[in-house]
Amino acid sequence: MNKVDYLRISLIDRCNFRCQYCMPEGAELEYIWQQQLLTHAEILNLLKEVFIPLGFTRFRLTGGEPLLRPGVVDLVGDIAALPETEDLAMTTNGFLLASLAQDLYDAGLRRINISLDSLDPETFDKIIRNRGRSRWERTWEGIQAAYQVGFDPLKLNVVVIPGVNDSEVLDLAALTIDRQWHVRFIEFMPIGNMQLFDDCAARTQRGRAWIPSSELREWIGDRWGLISTVPEKSEVRGNGPADVFQIPGAKGTIGFISQMSECFCDRCNRMRLSADGWLRPCLLNETGQIDLKTGLRQGVDTAELRERVSQLLRIKPEINYKQRDSGTTGSYGRTMSQIGG
Ligand code: SAM
Ligand code: SF4
Repeated sequence: MNKVDYLRISLIDRCNFRCQYCMPEGAELEYIWQQQLLTHAEILNLLKEVFIPLGFTRFRLTGGEPLLRPGVVDLVGDIAALPETEDLAMTTNGFLLASLAQDLYDAGLRRINISLDSLDPETFDKIIRNRGRSRWERTWEGIQAAYQVGFDPLKLNVVVIPGVNDSEVLDLAALTIDRQWHVRFIEFMPIGNMQLFDDCAARTQRGRAWIPSSELREWIGDRWGLISTVPEKSEVRGNGPADVFQIPGAKGTIGFISQMSECFCDRCNRMRLSADGWLRPCLLNETGQIDLKTGLRQGVDTAELRERVSQLLRIKPEINYKQRDSGTTGSYGRTMSQIGG
């Protein structure tokens, strides 16, 4: 059985972007109320009293947009300072990174994933549903700032959507050649905006809203050749479910996250804690989820909460396999920004 030692912590469900693939129209109307968010102290308490004693040592801060959370730098500092923290990372859209990159680094964050779906400002704005002044440049500045500050690895997450940004796959892959940037191509999942997913599928010849990683690998391989890197020996820590390759001679790597074309449930090493304190054992399945915040606020002893999480850990493989064995990737009412992608 896989060791489950990795917790993805959503700091907030709000976002300053409205990515089409992540949020359906109007998703912001259901944002969690401020009072319902886990507080700084509650997050730390849960880590120290519940998760770390159960063997969790690797944490990723996400959202929504984690940099919108007031006090995010202090929280990074406090989690990084826990002696048991072996790895602390963040996934962000990068828009606020130019001014925060140095503070985050100084607070102890070392690994960062920045979402960048397009190099073309117009396409980028269309994807994030921005109708005002383009947000591409500031996001790009955020990436540059993170690079200059020294985040390593610096990964760029790209959700590939047919007819939207698939024509940029080679340009995005080329970012890894001269810089130590690691691009991660992610298959579009039927989560968040089902309307877009279905529309996209209907538009394509194969009736699929996602492009299999194997195909993207072929495109890139035909252009430059690709060599496989062995994750264990890779310089890039925390490869997670990505299969990692490299353009010969490139400084960075290219990874493929193929949750639609391949099932990696049996490799699953993670749980997700939502911004309002729900612990979910599976991204695609709400079975078994526990409301830790209400427990904490009702004064349930942390030893009891730990026991509940421990029980959930015991049935997690069953929950994951239920998903796998259903033969579907499901479709879900919640968005990635609500679950904590
Ligand atoms: N706001 C931050 C960001 O965009 O990086 C962090 C949260 S976001 C929900 C985390 C990741 O989930 C992003 O890389 C995003 O591209 C990905 N994501 C969101 N919806 C998705 C979907 N339907 N399919 C695949 N990936 C998705
Ligand atoms: Fe916001 Fe990230 Fe979702 Fe885009 S993917 S809407 S940036 S949470």
